[in-house]
Amino acid sequence: MALNTSDLLASVPTGLLINGHWVDAATSATFTVENPATGESLAEVAAGSAEDAARALDAAANAQKEWARTSARERSDILRRAFDLVHERAEEFATLMTLEMGKSLAEARGEVAYGAEFLRWFSEEAVRHYGHSLTSPEGKLNIRTQHKPVGPCLLITPWNFPLAMATRKVAPAVAAGCTMVLKPAELTPLTSLYFAQTMLDAGLPAGVLNVVTTLEAPEVSQTLMSDDRLRKVSFTGSTGVGKILLRQASDNVLRTSMELGGNAPLIVFEDADLDIAVAQAKQAKMRNMGEACTAANRMIVHEAVFEEFSRRLTAELEGLKVGNGMDESTDVGPLIEQKALDNVASLVEDAVSKGAKVLTGGKKVGDAGYFYAPTVLAEVPADARIATEEIFGPVAPIFTFSTEEEAYEIANGTEYGLASYVFTDDAVRMQRATENLEFGMVGVNVGVMSNAAAPFGGVKQSGLGREGGAEGIEEYSSVQYVATPR
Ligand code: ADP
Repeated sequence: MALNTSDLLASVPTGLLINGHWVDAATSATFTVENPATGESLAEVAAGSAEDAARALDAAANAQKEWARTSARERSDILRRAFDLVHERAEEFATLMTLEMGKSLAEARGEVAYGAEFLRWFSEEAVRHYGHSLTSPEGKLNIRTQHKPVGPCLLITPWNFPLAMATRKVAPAVAAGCTMVLKPAELTPLTSLYFAQTMLDAGLPAGVLNVVTTLEAPEVSQTLMSDDRLRKVSFTGSTGVGKILLRQASDNVLRTSMELGGNAPLIVFEDADLDIAVAQAKQAKMRNMGEACTAANRMIVHEAVFEEFSRRLTAELEGLKVGNGMDESTDVGPLIEQKALDNVASLVEDAVSKGAKVLTGGKKVGDAGYFYAPTVLAEVPADARIATEEIFGPVAPIFTFSTEEEAYEIANGTEYGLASYVFTDDAVRMQRATENLEFGMVGVNVGVMSNAAAPFGGVKQSGLGREGGAEGIEEYSSVQYVATPR
């Protein structure tokens, strides 16, 4: 049943969340959140400043000691209640994401299910965060380890998955017993604000989660990171900003988790099942309009199957309907903003000017909103910018190879190392591919692999640390070693 969007928007908090209260920014300033499909204003939210951020950290720091003393079961129960509440409010969350971010309602519902899983997964991990014990080799000490929360965390999230990027950080932090200041992306704050209210409704104590929406991300994060009460920063976003934060983190030797850019290769070997390869490549490319750091950025296809693969992928992408995500029949929504649209258009123009062929798409769609047609490019030269830059849009450039070694060489020829995809029916080659690919994640015959139970993360300039899986809670915990004589 379609929700009344004005009622929904009126129910979303628009202030800063500090110590359990929704408050205005100290300056009373606000900023506008827009719908990228229409350019319409959706809401005015508080434009927090460094001063507000400092108040949020006061609250997080004051709550830390008592929060760390709560039992794992208590924290687990809060997360589990939050999981149930997100599901009860699934349509509200999905609609908010479609409105402020643009993805289709079907994709937004998918994100609600995916995002909520982090709450359930970490409610289960909270009570099973085992330490270990052993006797020292020479027999003189009992060695025991126990976990402690790292302390107050700054969580900075991007706009592309407004719910899942928040739950992926907040849930393990809650499980481990950390307090937080969440700074959501300025383009999509509404989902995070609604989620924060949901966490309060699930019983999260005041001060544990604080939220600062702002247009002054650099000042806000700098202020928090130079305060020695903050102990960690977890960031998802561009590699450029990640590097700035890593430098700032060094001053107070903060723990860091960095989920940065990607340039995912998708290799199709000549023995691949093309039904699977085409269907999964479409998903790997088109999920979230291509606005995902795991999106297949380079289709690397064996020359023997290039023609059939590109013809079939082109037909699939041509069948997708571009439009306002609120329309139930839409497959592909708008890009997030004008800058994103211009960047995608300029990557395609550059590739075409260097010799790439447009098999479909290659143009903007409509007059309002930031729509770009699903696009397939063939014969893309290696010196095209699109071969090395993150596309973040619905464009599939296809490159060809003739030997297996060449495929790995092309795939690894990037400073990034987040997701990679391989399509082959040869079990030995599958194993060889995983050994050769320098990426934190490898999807074998699958195009979408994000899962709360799996460790998400990259190598090289794609980042540090892992989110989700058994590894996720470690990012928010420190190990204490306790020695006793034997
Ligand atoms: P994208 O290109 O996907 O927008 P960004 O890295 O620019 O990625 O943004 C991701 C998040 O980082 C957003 O919440 C944004 O406000 C924040 N951000 C951007 N610049 C800085 C900065 N200098 N310091 C801290 N946070 C920043």
